Amino acid sequence: MAETTDVAIIGGGAAGCAVAYYLAQSGVKSTIIEREGLGNQASGYAAGGLNPLTGVGIPGPLGDFAWECYELHAGLYDGLKDASGIDYQHRTVAKIDVALEESEIDGLKETAERLNAAPGFEARWMDTDEILKLEPRIAPGILGGLYDYGNTAADSHKLTNAYATASGATIHEGNVTGLESSGGKVDRVMLADGEISCGQVVMAMGPWSRKAEAWLGVYIPVDPLKGEILRLELNSGPINYDISGGGASIYPKLDGLNWCGTTEDWKGFDRSLSEEVAKEIRRRLDRVFPELANAKLAKHTACLRPVTPDWLPVLGQAPGWENVYFATGAGKKGILLSPGIGKSVADLMTTGETTLSIKGYSPERFATQID
Ligand SMILES: Cc1cc2nc3c(=O)[nH]c(=O)nc-3n(C[C@H](O)[C@H](O)[C@H](O)COP(=O)(O)OP(=O)(O)OC[C@H]3O[C@@H](n4cnc5c(N)ncnc54)[C@H](O)[C@@H]3O)c2cc1C
Repeated sequence: MAETTDVAIIGGGAAGCAVAYYLAQSGVKSTIIEREGLGNQASGYAAGGLNPLTGVGIPGPLGDFAWECYELHAGLYDGLKDASGIDYQHRTVAKIDVALEESEIDGLKETAERLNAAPGFEARWMDTDEILKLEPRIAPGILGGLYDYGNTAADSHKLTNAYATASGATIHEGNVTGLESSGGKVDRVMLADGEISCGQVVMAMGPWSRKAEAWLGVYIPVDPLKGEILRLELNSGPINYDISGGGASIYPKLDGLNWCGTTEDWKGFDRSLSEEVAKEIRRRLDRVFPELANAKLAKHTACLRPVTPDWLPVLGQAPGWENVYFATGAGKKGILLSPGIGKSVADLMTTGETTLSIKGYSPERFATQID
């Protein structure tokens, strides 16, 4: 007998798995269709920073939603950990953003004020001596920095799997090759080796979302932005802060490795590991945390962020389709945004509305741009 599901979710990254989780909270069972294993693309290799107050579009069109997602994460942890049996290590982190140029200082001081005003955050500008007291291995040539406490972090691979496990969704390994429809409704998801009949469909294909343009005739400008990370071992003891500056970011992880990067390159779907990029990461580290510039490599990873022209996610019903929804385009913030993506899309699918601040993220905003 042909496989049937109420909701077919195409893509088992953080976005798709979060939709499955929140649908399950409303009593809706789904099937996640994934061709390369759950969380084995960007959602498994992200740095896992849940930083709601900084980044593209914050403050700005992503600000309210980012903060809502940060709060959702905080409320989710105990229940999701218990329901899934997966401890994805949600925790609060201290962070130092160092200034390497005079021109960066005013901006960092302004950010300190803004962060300090946010509930649960502490932030202030520190001069070089204060920073070096916190972490003496930081390069002595820095010009001070912003210290803050309040951002959170999680293991993104475990989080993605926790959503999926707790959702009780059927996991179907397979490559989706098309959709079959009738009268503005998708009836079947076509796979390389079969098909699944469905009541509703969620397109959560991350950087591969444009594939759906041909299937649906809807313009979905999501493009892959490559990011590489070096996981480095340090013999001189753990680093207690996330650190960034001069294009380098350092994320000390609970496994003792320091994830360093993160780069941004428009290279299409190329996921190869670049020696040139590895050297560039080490060059940047040398200006911020010299010991890491020569530290032993434990692992080098590369993966692709799903980015839209306005750097905002694509959430909601596909224009012209009765039963198709998008959950994609989260760019550099997809782990932070995942609970909001999951909840808002599940809300729309089950009730037609959501209280989350996703106005402006509808796929409709690109509708006029179809060639
Ligand atoms: C280096 C790096 C660091 C990052 N750091 C952070 C961070 O600190 N904090 C943060 O919030 N975000 C971070 N991100 C961003 C975050 O990783 C992404 O926004 C997020 O993972 C996107 O999730 P997704 O589910 O939309 O896409 P993906 O994780 O790419 O999942 C999409 C899935 O769809 C599957 N798929 C696609 N097409 C098909 C098909 N036809 N059939 C079956 N399966 C299909 C793919 O195999 C894939 O598993 C980082 C990203 C990178 C690259």
